[in-house]
Amino acid sequence: MSDDKFDVIVVGGGIAGTVASYLLAKEGLSVVLVERGNFCGSKNMTGGRLYAYSLEEVMPGFANEAPVERKVFKERISLLTMDQSVTLDVRSPKFAESGNDSYVVLRSSFDRWLGEKAESEGAMIVAGYRVDDLIVRDDKVCGIISNGEEMDADVVVLADGVNSLLAEKLGMKKPLRPEHVAVGVKEVIQLTRGEIDERFGLSGDEGCAWSFFGANTDGIQGGGFLYTNKDSISIGLTCNLQKLSEGSKPLMQLMNDFQSHPVVAPLVKGGNLIEYSAHLEPEAGAKMIPQLYGNGVLVIGDAAGLTLNLGHKVRGMDLAVISAQCAAQAILEAKSREDFTASSLRKYKDLLDVSSAIQNIEARDKYLEFMENPLLYNAYPLMIVDMLARLFVVKGGRAQTIFDDILKNIEALGKNQIENDFKAVKKL
Ligand SMILES: Cc1cc2nc3c(=O)[nH]c(=O)nc-3n(C[C@H](O)[C@H](O)[C@H](O)COP(=O)(O)OP(=O)(O)OC[C@H]3O[C@@H](n4cnc5c(N)ncnc54)[C@H](O)[C@@H]3O)c2cc1C
Repeated sequence: MSDDKFDVIVVGGGIAGTVASYLLAKEGLSVVLVERGNFCGSKNMTGGRLYAYSLEEVMPGFANEAPVERKVFKERISLLTMDQSVTLDVRSPKFAESGNDSYVVLRSSFDRWLGEKAESEGAMIVAGYRVDDLIVRDDKVCGIISNGEEMDADVVVLADGVNSLLAEKLGMKKPLRPEHVAVGVKEVIQLTRGEIDERFGLSGDEGCAWSFFGANTDGIQGGGFLYTNKDSISIGLTCNLQKLSEGSKPLMQLMNDFQSHPVVAPLVKGGNLIEYSAHLEPEAGAKMIPQLYGNGVLVIGDAAGLTLNLGHKVRGMDLAVISAQCAAQAILEAKSREDFTASSLRKYKDLLDVSSAIQNIEARDKYLEFMENPLLYNAYPLMIVDMLARLFVVKGGRAQTIFDDILKNIEALGKNQIENDFKAVKKL
């Protein structure tokens, strides 16, 4: 730790913190990033898929240099019952077109690389130190306290993740509520490159992204994911924390059952578990966004609640980059005025409000109630999979038509329930 005063201290070496440090250091500001893990990314977790458009704007051509695993060319979505499945396999060159492209990443190497990029622009990375508290003088955040030592700055950027205790201490953020977050578990399972290519129908650096819904969360709001890395796969589940606590199975058991499912078991067969992690994910949309700016302080990335869980895709890393960009621009303008008060730093919120991050979160808020409908995670997948499975069964006697099946299912679920759900879909 140093006694010098910095222009900016960034707390947290995830995507949000490293990108903000990179942008600010590049413009000549003195920046120190403090990360509690041994290096940037060492404690970080994600499902695995980075939508590239926002980082591309900050670092054009980043994927040629960064440790990305594979570029996604193939999308699969599966609906599961306990022993049946329906899978949609979508493959399109559009996925790889510039602007649409996405990459599978492992955070420990990817964030570390982003930290090195920030360092190469002159940012100082202090790893292995947890920021315990903030220095507040005359109602302004003036620095940090770590391990009993103090460090001053004009602005402190809180990029300390979903559970930002520092924003909470400042009264900018409310404590997390279990119904507002999902808990995710992920395993990285090592396989050979050849096994991955063969099991997923890939070649070269092509990657596959696969989402799973239905029995794998035992009817709880959430889903499963699988991403192919170069020589491993990232596989996991997310479930709403409140609903999980009301359910009958612990997350680990759901994860074991998921990996034993007839569709998934052959994909992980013979692999070595090389990494296990669990993490919270904000999923309550705009109502999770805290106060974003104050005197001498900004909140970015997951600390600012900026994650979009759309079921078939989770987006948080691309939004972390957008918030880092908006914060960096606001700080640079504040620096030009030497005014780091809340009214000067408000520019960050103004920029974020018109960005695609907030626009998409607000658009997704319309779906929030719909996504909580428990039938989406049990009865409807079961109904669809069952009907499609029966389409292919011939056993003599009078054959059931798909219409017989639809009518039977409508009766079983209740006509009113289905009508209400259709009305809800129409409102979206
Ligand atoms: C299961 C799961 C699957 C997901 N899948 C995807 C996906 O496929 N694609 C996608 O785009 N997003 C996904 N997300 C969301 C995405 O991972 C997050 O949005 C993203 O990690 C946010 O980055 P961040 O930098 O804001 O926070 P984080 O990555 O959480 O980084 C916070 C950093 O702050 C550090 N820190 C915390 N407190 C302190 C302290 N007091 N002092 C010093 N350092 C501190 C931490 O060690 C960490 O390095 C997923 C999330 C989960 C949980």
